[in-house]
Amino acid sequence: NKENILVSACLLGVNCRYDGGNGKREEVVSLMKHYNLIPVCPEQLGGLMTPRLPAERKADGSVSNEQGQDVTDYFKRGAKETLRIGTLYGCKRAILKERSPSCGHGTIYDGTFSGTRTGGSGMTAALLEENGIQVTGESNIQEEFTKNTER
Ligand code: SF4
Repeated sequence: NKENILVSACLLGVNCRYDGGNGKREEVVSLMKHYNLIPVCPEQLGGLMTPRLPAERKADGSVSNEQGQDVTDYFKRGAKETLRIGTLYGCKRAILKERSPSCGHGTIYDGTFSGTRTGGSGMTAALLEENGIQVTGESNIQEEFTKNTER
């Protein structure tokens, strides 16, 4: 039986990103050989449209889009629904898109829309971790996910 892993849908090539594109990473897609990858897009699950305005998380934890509209409630809803799916499938680990205000883990943009990075996590990554689901960004999957599967 393969382990179920939550994955940011944009990393698998789903066009759910704010600009209507994706961030497909073949090295993530290829993990399907060894794991059941469960695609989720917290921002769509939270009720936001695609395409949508880019959003960033502020120091106080709220999320606003580029026009200054507060979209925190959408992000909260998306985080909860993503956790619901992760729990439903018994996921213990997630591979999430780095630096996203939903999916980012450890480093995100600082809320000024200037490309400045700061410490912290996206709303979904934080909620998953609070609930015992370990989050890994796409650049660290080599270490976390492929070491036991190479033969
Ligand atoms: Fe990708 Fe996550 Fe943004 Fe959805 S919310 S587009 S899955 S980074």
